[in-house]
Amino acid sequence: MALPDFQVPVFDALRLTAVGLDVAAVQRLGAGGIAARQAGRLRALLRVARERSALYRELLPTSAPEAGGQVELAALAVTHKPALMERFDDWVADPAIRLEEVRTFLADPDRVGSAFLGRYIVWESSGTSGEPGVFVKDAQAMAVYDALEALRRHTPRPLQRMVDPLYLSERLAFVGATGGHFASVVSLERLRRLNPWLGAAFHTLSIMRPTAELVAELNAFAPTILASYPTAVALLAEQARLGALAIRPAEIWTGGETLTAAVREHAEQVFGCSVRNSYGASEFLAIGGECAHGRLHANADWVILEPVDERGRPLPPGKASHSVLLTNLANHVQPLIRYDLGDSVRFAAEPCACGSPLPVIEVRGREDDPLVMQDDAGRHVTWLPLALSTLLEEDVGVFDFQLVQRGPRTLALRVGASSEDAALALARCSKALHALARRDGLHGLRCIEEPGQPLLRGSSGKVQRVVALESDPRPGRST
Ligand SMILES: [Zn+2]
Repeated sequence: MALPDFQVPVFDALRLTAVGLDVAAVQRLGAGGIAARQAGRLRALLRVARERSALYRELLPTSAPEAGGQVELAALAVTHKPALMERFDDWVADPAIRLEEVRTFLADPDRVGSAFLGRYIVWESSGTSGEPGVFVKDAQAMAVYDALEALRRHTPRPLQRMVDPLYLSERLAFVGATGGHFASVVSLERLRRLNPWLGAAFHTLSIMRPTAELVAELNAFAPTILASYPTAVALLAEQARLGALAIRPAEIWTGGETLTAAVREHAEQVFGCSVRNSYGASEFLAIGGECAHGRLHANADWVILEPVDERGRPLPPGKASHSVLLTNLANHVQPLIRYDLGDSVRFAAEPCACGSPLPVIEVRGREDDPLVMQDDAGRHVTWLPLALSTLLEEDVGVFDFQLVQRGPRTLALRVGASSEDAALALARCSKALHALARRDGLHGLRCIEEPGQPLLRGSSGKVQRVVALESDPRPGRST
């Protein structure tokens, strides 16, 4: 008897092979090959969007330039998550998909990673602010994500991958959110359903658990690969430095939040292995991966990124953007065209020394807020989250912190280390913040140290390092 629909994972081996060959070919074809694929895939996406999405029929111009010739992407409307979610049933390109039924499916923890309607993968985004997004992926999108993850992820142990390409001898621990249908958990559960024999080698641990429990369980499991968010890796590196965590992973994979140079260096030093970062989102799982030179390459053959300033104007390479518009060329069932992703992305002006034709990007996630403080004269002083994390990580040497604004001159400060260590770390952070404040004419800064308070995590387990008094309600701005 066939399995009920919902138990079958979405997987199509033929599709994966075809996509895999194409993903491998692009490395050789160069920039021209990428541009040609982008253009062809964009035409196909626009055709499907116009034919099958009632919402996009309204949004796209009445003429159909995609029938032939060049499509001018910049002429199409920018889209935002709240507006798309409001018209979800009109947005999706299959009338069988109804938001109400997707929500029922997402409410059932036993269905994580299984197929919705027998043919789609669905996940939700956590939403640190605003409404969580609901994302539906078809078999083609999953095959593209699989191929990009498998073929464009640089491995620091090439010999190990040659003898064990399927990771059969690895023990992978994922520390993250386990309490919902989030993209990372859904992907792992889907893999587990596809390869039941891998079960024992995968271990997922909830980041919400007390640190001592996490440490004990990781020590017992002894992972060879540790996968998590940068903030969780920072927390675990701190536990390893204190001698509590005794694992010796051969690789650490990070994603989901911004990985700063300081956190990477600290983790590599403490664990004695390399950290490989990737950039993905619920909207497109494998936006970019790191090459052997440690630079992040965007998978431009399958996803178009347009960096824009505060007013939505395009930015040239070399400039860090206010937000970035994402067009997903792989997924036709829920078209994402010029979608405001909220991240700050900078395209490198120069190609990478590794020789890849894929563009190099730098990303600053949307998880942190700039803090607008007030100096002694009542003027606004803005502290950028990157400056604050650089100060605390590189100058003070604290990697596991959280700053919450409580007023125009008041900050609450938390660190995640053990108790006596935490008091020292808090004092050092506080001193550095007061020095910064004095520099900016804010002599009356109040820094409330909150020892013993756990870091506040969103429902996905992600930490917002720097939290402004009033979180920015910018549309599309949630993780
Ligand atoms: Zn490179």
